[in-house]
Amino acid sequence: MKNHSILGYGIAAAMFSALAAGTASAQDQRFISLGTGGVTGVYYPVGGAICRLVNQTRRDHGIRCSVESTGGSVFNVNAIKGGDLEFGVVQSDVQYNAFNGEAGFADGGAHENLRSVFSLHAEPLTVVARADAGIEDFDGLKGKRVNIGNPGSGQRALMDLLIAEKGWTNADFAVAAELAPAEQSAQLCDNNIDAFAYTVGHPAGAIQEATTTCDSKIVPVEGEAVDKLVEDNPYYFKATIPGGMYRGNDEDVNTFGVGATVVTSADVPDDVVTVFLDAVFNDFDAFKELHPALANLTPEDMVNQGNSAPMHPAAEAYYKEKGWLK
Ligand code: GLU
Repeated sequence: MKNHSILGYGIAAAMFSALAAGTASAQDQRFISLGTGGVTGVYYPVGGAICRLVNQTRRDHGIRCSVESTGGSVFNVNAIKGGDLEFGVVQSDVQYNAFNGEAGFADGGAHENLRSVFSLHAEPLTVVARADAGIEDFDGLKGKRVNIGNPGSGQRALMDLLIAEKGWTNADFAVAAELAPAEQSAQLCDNNIDAFAYTVGHPAGAIQEATTTCDSKIVPVEGEAVDKLVEDNPYYFKATIPGGMYRGNDEDVNTFGVGATVVTSADVPDDVVTVFLDAVFNDFDAFKELHPALANLTPEDMVNQGNSAPMHPAAEAYYKEKGWLK
């Protein structure tokens, strides 16, 4: 399976890095960590690819990047705030709400040091239901056993908002499960849940697993509540999950979604951010080939879309020099 081979390569690359590190002088080494999501999502393989690119030129800059599998977007912004991660992949809505201290971040206060770096792929809210569960659309989730996502994930933050916008509560589900993304497909196919909601780029390992292990279908997420969220917030947009990407799901499915973005802290030094950007943009065609979800990216979109926190000054200078910032 695609994810396993990506993961395997990541481990091999990490071992190689560990061996090679012994040859560089220890005091020249600096370590950065990039927080991602579950291993069957898209953040993790993409983050692994970025770290591999950083590490390929480690002899020149002495920075060693390690990719962390985490609980997701909300975990990542909080870990950056606490100084436990230098970089993180986060949903565009989570970036906005964290910087401004809104929605789920209202109690914790604004994360004023949060800085945007660039945006990545689109992440449609992807609701996958067992084919035998009688669920045809989002409203069909009422009364069912639904994985609304682990606390700390972007999908949980988004589901909390959508559920509230619809005037529902978690009590409207027979079960509101809090499974991590790497567990949800097996639980779906074991008939322990009827459906799960995952904000994720495509193709994603978790959706491949759910659709190949048992008969399951992606259902639309539409209606008034979705229209309102999209109208009121620039970081939400209508999206389509293309038909033919997953077994048993031949038709396009309408939903809405967010953008994946990469963020850092104002405390992360300029030269570290510049090394990170060089890894992605020096051979951008090679970067785009590292995961199919990245195939349609352009530097201009990555720089000008989905980023709402102030840009890290090193990133701003980098993009100005390239002429990408609008
Ligand atoms: N969007 C999800 C989150 O913010 C993660 C998706 C992924 O891992 O690709 O938690």
